[in-house]
Amino acid sequence: MGGTTEASRLAALLAKNGLADRGARAVLSYAGRTEQPRAQPVPVRVGGFGGVAGLADYLRAERVTHLVDATHPFAATMSHHAAAAARVAGVAHIMLTRPEWQAQPGDRWRHVGDIEGAVAALAGEARRVMLALGRMHVDAFAAQPQHHYLLRFVDRPAVAPGLADHALVVDRGPFTVAGDRALMESHGVDLVVCKNAGGAGAEAKLGAARALGLPVIMIDRPARPDALVTHDVQEALRWLGHCDQRGV
Ligand code: NAP
Repeated sequence: MGGTTEASRLAALLAKNGLADRGARAVLSYAGRTEQPRAQPVPVRVGGFGGVAGLADYLRAERVTHLVDATHPFAATMSHHAAAAARVAGVAHIMLTRPEWQAQPGDRWRHVGDIEGAVAALAGEARRVMLALGRMHVDAFAAQPQHHYLLRFVDRPAVAPGLADHALVVDRGPFTVAGDRALMESHGVDLVVCKNAGGAGAEAKLGAARALGLPVIMIDRPARPDALVTHDVQEALRWLGHCDQRGV
């Protein structure tokens, strides 16, 4: 289950390690949110499965033995479905996810529990806010229309974001601290809102906010299912090679 750098790295390692030589196959699953996902060295399928039952049916029909949930830490519905479907279908299951970002000296983070918490935290005077959230939850911020919002999306959206006062940058990264700092400065950003995604690809905005002394509203991660977890792609590969269908 992909849509992340970790999933793409695991797919590359699986292809390189001669899966077919060992009679094994891998399929990478995308939700289909990105118009042009990166090309992958293993077969790809796209779209939802239809809940836990749909995924369990898929796992059985494709005779899947191992399920690696390498979805984004904020893709909580998918992760809970994956854990439940793996249990139902008797498939070994592991989560491959990134460690959370930790505040460093100089950071001015305010933690909130979810998108609604971030929206509520924006009550008050007009600011220039970088909403570094991806495109899915942006419209919730229409409830705080007094702010100017800087948005950055992977694709140009078919429908304009529902925010009265915004600027949109289309860029899929990877981003640098210097680049993000210049972007924030050129848009006069004075507050950053982001999700604690973890990982290197999107970390630059935090370094840029630190360098500029900007406050950050940090949306903490949703709860994840009770499951075997690794942060290490190589370890996920070892798990695939060495554990049987019961995950031991
Ligand atoms: P979500 O809310 O947890 O999932 C909603 C539904 O989308 C799931 O129930 C499932 O539909 C389908 N789905 C999600 N991931 C899928 C996958 N890899 N393959 C097939 N179906 C999938 O997920 P989300 O937050 O919308 O994220 C969607 C995708 O974008 C994920 O693959 C995730 O890795 C990636 N992504 C998410 C974020 C983020 O901030 N949320 C950031 C970067 C990348 P069914 O119930 O019909 O099976």
